Amino acid sequence: MAEAVDPGSASAGFRSLFFMLTPNESSYRDLEDVPQYVQQATPFFVGLMVLELVVGLLKTRSTVPTIKDGLTSVSCGMISRIPLLFMRSCELTAYVLVWDRYRLLELPWDSAWTWWLTFVGVDFCYYWVHRCAHEVAIIWASHQVHHSSEYYNLSTALRQSLTQQFTSWIFYLPVALVAPPTVFAVHIQLNLLYQFWIHTELIRDLGPLEWVFNTPKHHRVHHGRNEYCIDKNYGGILIIWDRLFGTFAEEKDKVVFGLVFPINTFEILYVQLHYYLNLWRRSKTYKTVGDKLSTFLKGPSWSPGKTRLGDHADNPEVTGQEVPHGPSWPLPLRAYVVIHFLLALGTYHDLFENKMMLSQLTVLGMTGYVLLTLTSLGFIMDQRPTAALLETLRCVVMVTMQRYGCMKPLLSSLAGPTEVRPNCNLWAGSTVKNTSQKKKKKNLSIYAARACVTFDNAVSLSDSLGLI
Ligand SMILES: [Zn+2]
Ligand SMILES: [Zn+2]
Repeated sequence: MAEAVDPGSASAGFRSLFFMLTPNESSYRDLEDVPQYVQQATPFFVGLMVLELVVGLLKTRSTVPTIKDGLTSVSCGMISRIPLLFMRSCELTAYVLVWDRYRLLELPWDSAWTWWLTFVGVDFCYYWVHRCAHEVAIIWASHQVHHSSEYYNLSTALRQSLTQQFTSWIFYLPVALVAPPTVFAVHIQLNLLYQFWIHTELIRDLGPLEWVFNTPKHHRVHHGRNEYCIDKNYGGILIIWDRLFGTFAEEKDKVVFGLVFPINTFEILYVQLHYYLNLWRRSKTYKTVGDKLSTFLKGPSWSPGKTRLGDHADNPEVTGQEVPHGPSWPLPLRAYVVIHFLLALGTYHDLFENKMMLSQLTVLGMTGYVLLTLTSLGFIMDQRPTAALLETLRCVVMVTMQRYGCMKPLLSSLAGPTEVRPNCNLWAGSTVKNTSQKKKKKNLSIYAARACVTFDNAVSLSDSLGLI
C-alpha cells in the first residue's frame, strides 16, 4: 500500500507538516519502514521559520523573535531528542509491548479505516496527555518547558521537553489494544508535526476550520497567561475535544504569552528542569504527607485549602504591558553566540547521522559537548559573571575532543593565518584573570567570545598544519 509516493520526497515531507498525507502513502507493514517524519521535516522547519521572520519584519506590528528566545527554543528541541540516541521513544516501546502481549483486536495495517481510527484515537489520547500535563504538577514540571517562551512564533513549537515522553507513553496504551504499531508510529509523528505551523501570530482566523481544527488562533490562547487562557485549548489536531469536555476558550483580550511566573533565563538545563526543584522545595514546606503528595499530584497552582487546580485568580494580574525578558547585548556577542550555536547544531546533526558508526563513548562525549555548549551559550546570553569561565572550559573540552579525534574541526576553512596556539593560552588566561577579578558581566562575555574564536581558529590552523 505504501508504493504510491516516495515517503522521503520533498512533497511528502512538506505535506506531513500539515497532516496532508493520505493513508495510501503512509501505511507500512514493518516498523523499520516507517519514515522519520520529524527528522525529514527539519529543512521545512528552518524554511518556514525564516519565512515567518521575513514576513514578521515586513509587518511591523508583528512580534519579531529575538535571538536569545529563538536559540533557547531550538536548543530545547535539540535536547528533547537526545534520549533517541540511546533508545527507541518511550511511547513506541511501551506501545509495541502492549500490542505484542495484550492486543484485543488486530486491525489490518493496510486499511484506510485503521489509519483514520488511529488518527482519532491518537488525537483523543493526546488531548488527555496534554490536559494532565497542565493539571498534574509533576507532569507540568516537564511540559512547562513548552510554555516558557514569552514570544509566540514557529520556533516556540520546537521548545520541547526532555522529560515529557517518560510520562506521556501511558496515555496511548489503549490504542495499542487494537491498532498496529506501524500505524501508531506514523500518527504519533504526524500529530506532533501538525502542531508546528499553529505556533504563529501571523495567521489570525481560518473561518469555518476554527470549528473543527486546532489553529493558530486557538493555540495562542493555550499559550497565554491571561486568566481566561489558563488550562484551555488542549487539542492537538482537533479542537472538538475541548468543545466536548468544556476546556475551550475563544481568543478575545490581547494574549500575553509565557508562564504565569516567567523564568527570566536562557540557561537551558534550568529551563528544562527547574520546576522539579521548585516542586520539591514547595513540598518540603508542607507538614502533612497528604499535602506533600498533593504538591506533585494536583494542579501547579494548588496549595492547601484550595480546590484541585488551585485558584487562578491568585496568579499575578496580566495588564498587556508586560515586556519579555531579554536584556540588550552587544552585536559582536550576538554574532559569536549565533556562530557557535550553528557549529553545535552541526555537531548535533553529525551525531544523529553517524550514531550507528560511533562508539558509545564517542556518542556520550559528543552529547556531553553539545549540552555543555548550549549551557555555556545560555550563560553568555544571560550575561552571567561565570559565563567567561564556562566558555573557556567549553573551548578546552572542544580542543581536547578534536585532538583525540572525537570531533572534526568545524572551522578549518575560517582559520586565520595569524592565529597560533599561544594566543589561546593568552586569551584563556585573560578570561580566567578577569573572571577572578569579577569585572563587568558584559566585558567577561566578550573576553569569552574572543577567547573561543581564537581557540577555534588556532585549533583549525594547527590541525591543517598537522600540529595536533
Ligand atoms: Zn500546553
Ligand atoms: Zn504550543
